[in-house]
Amino acid sequence: MTTSAGSAASAAPAAGDPAATAERASSPHSGFRLGKSLVVAIDGPSGSGKSSVSREVARRLRAAYLDTGAMYRAVTLHCIATGVDLQDGVAVEAAARGIELFISTSPDRESVTIAGDDVTAAIREPEVSSAVSAVATTMGARAELIRRQRALIAGAGHRIVAEGRDITTVVAPDAEVRILLTASEEARLRRRGDQLGGTQTDAQLKQQVIDRDARDSTVVNFRQAADGVVTLDSSDLDFEQTVAAVLDVVRTIAH
Ligand code: C5P
Repeated sequence: MTTSAGSAASAAPAAGDPAATAERASSPHSGFRLGKSLVVAIDGPSGSGKSSVSREVARRLRAAYLDTGAMYRAVTLHCIATGVDLQDGVAVEAAARGIELFISTSPDRESVTIAGDDVTAAIREPEVSSAVSAVATTMGARAELIRRQRALIAGAGHRIVAEGRDITTVVAPDAEVRILLTASEEARLRRRGDQLGGTQTDAQLKQQVIDRDARDSTVVNFRQAADGVVTLDSSDLDFEQTVAAVLDVVRTIAH
């Protein structure tokens, strides 16, 4: 098996994106703790906005970015595509161990490939969202993905924003900054609906957000902050305010 990371973003601004480059050059956070470890672990339920917020926080800090949910989604897609029975824990674990998975850790380049095939868009399909909890609740598959996630964090030189469900508690409990990003059920349903461009019915959205969280939380606790984890409720914050609030926590805690 292999998991490889894209170029860590710690040094390089986005090639060919002058606006992003200029913004980052002017970011007051870009030099923060340079040369020292800065792992920012962010957990939260579906629709809390953690992916887009974490990606932007990584850009501003000139850090790498790891979307661990994308890895669970990739294994799920791989199982569906190769006919692995998602109820067969032994087979799912074997799939997680064997998958040739690449995930970019640049916040400016969203890319996931399986054996060289680009699956960046396919892993976001509702079919995968509905099935992914089967992989997430297979403990052998989790152990393998956690191992790969730790390797990716190390590969990024420990300057990274990593987000998921168990980053603050299991993957990187020693992270310099640990945040639980929450939002009300109403806000989360609305955000996920907007993300999917209004293509889903209310019942489908509920299935993909609320029911999925209920299944996932049988193996990881991402509803309550563990000791030392800062809870940030984004229900009444817009995107920019949430990014600013996360950066405030980072600068306060990891001084
Ligand atoms: O964040 P996202 O919705 O893309 O995550 C997809 C799924 O991956 C979650 O519903 C959960 O089943 C699983 N997951 C997990 N642990 C993580 C990240 C995601 O179990 N750290």
